[in-house]
Amino acid sequence: MTPNTINKIPFVDFSHQHQPIQTQLEQAIQTVIQRGDFVLGEALTEFENAFAGACGVKYGIGVACGTDAIALGLQACGIRSGDEILVPANTFIATVIGVLRAGAVPILVDCDVETALIDLEAAEKAISPKTKAILPVHLYGQMVSPKQLLDFAGTHNLFIFEDAAQAHLALSEGYRAGSIGKASAFSFYPSKNLGGFGDGGMVVTPDPDIAKNLRSLRNYGAPQKYLHTDTGTNSRLDTLQAAVLNVKLPHLRKWNQQRNTAAQNYENLLHNKPIIPLQNKTATGHVYHLYVIRIPHPLDRNFFQQQLAEIGIQTGIHYPLPCHLQPAYQNLGYQKGDFPAAETLSQEILSLPMYPGLTPSQIQQVINSIELVLCHQNKL
Ligand SMILES: *Cc1c(COP(=O)(O)O)cnc(C)c1O
Repeated sequence: MTPNTINKIPFVDFSHQHQPIQTQLEQAIQTVIQRGDFVLGEALTEFENAFAGACGVKYGIGVACGTDAIALGLQACGIRSGDEILVPANTFIATVIGVLRAGAVPILVDCDVETALIDLEAAEKAISPKTKAILPVHLYGQMVSPKQLLDFAGTHNLFIFEDAAQAHLALSEGYRAGSIGKASAFSFYPSKNLGGFGDGGMVVTPDPDIAKNLRSLRNYGAPQKYLHTDTGTNSRLDTLQAAVLNVKLPHLRKWNQQRNTAAQNYENLLHNKPIIPLQNKTATGHVYHLYVIRIPHPLDRNFFQQQLAEIGIQTGIHYPLPCHLQPAYQNLGYQKGDFPAAETLSQEILSLPMYPGLTPSQIQQVINSIELVLCHQNKL
């Protein structure tokens, strides 16, 4: 293919987020160094309150990463060994790892092929007497319908635990991500909508007992120093990370809006092309952690991605292999064909560049490159 004159477009670019606030970020880090309260320090409490508040939830408990937020959060909700939890098959593997670490059995469920979100009809069929909870993943930044989830959980006497690792401040039907569950997990991995300068996570919950339990679980199971009432672990959000996140949080709404605008822009330009964007059913409430399109058969997604890379457009696949087909989890007992929608999507999806600061002309360049590759593929 003839190389174009366009500039390279990265999949993610942090500079638009960090450059304008660099001085404040450095000051916040300096303050922690001066105070020396590196573990469970002042900036952590401040961030826990600010972030939980932004989600519309009373308590926030900072932990080491999103995976721990799921594992410890479920444990604090009373999940015990052998309990079953409904989980989408097409999520990042950390969701499944969190469930397993809480001692529970992940019962995988297929998704809706148009939104890639958990299919609640399929979830209903997977319920057994051991099922305790449903763990919806607000995948790519779009919330699973809160009304349908609350209805589902109420009907079947299950609790909801949200994996909101990709959906900071997402909104649907008047509910914020993280505000419908008994407890909910967030990740502050650098590339998430709100990301630190390393790993980080949080559980938010409206329940004071769960919050108290989590503060103990993340801190060696000690509600007070050297008294260990729970078999806990060491999993805390670093004060330094919290200080960085405190500086970034006030910008999150604006950054999410920029992602949503970029997505609308992509959507308009992709109109009438043989490429299908995943459906947005939550309008401006979708925070587009990722912008995902489907490149359906007979087009070849892998070839498509490779051709785009050659022109300088970096893309991703989230995720190329659903959880039930991952080698490490064969003992869960699933096989190819069990979740047709998840499997189809894994072969068709492609994530286009998406980050706050992505410009309309860059989006146009991505679309031009897609057109070029489409022409090329049709000629093959
Ligand atoms: C990122 C992510 C997690 C895990 O978060 P970490 O901070 O990387 O442990 C869990 N679930 C989903 C859907 C994620 O995207």
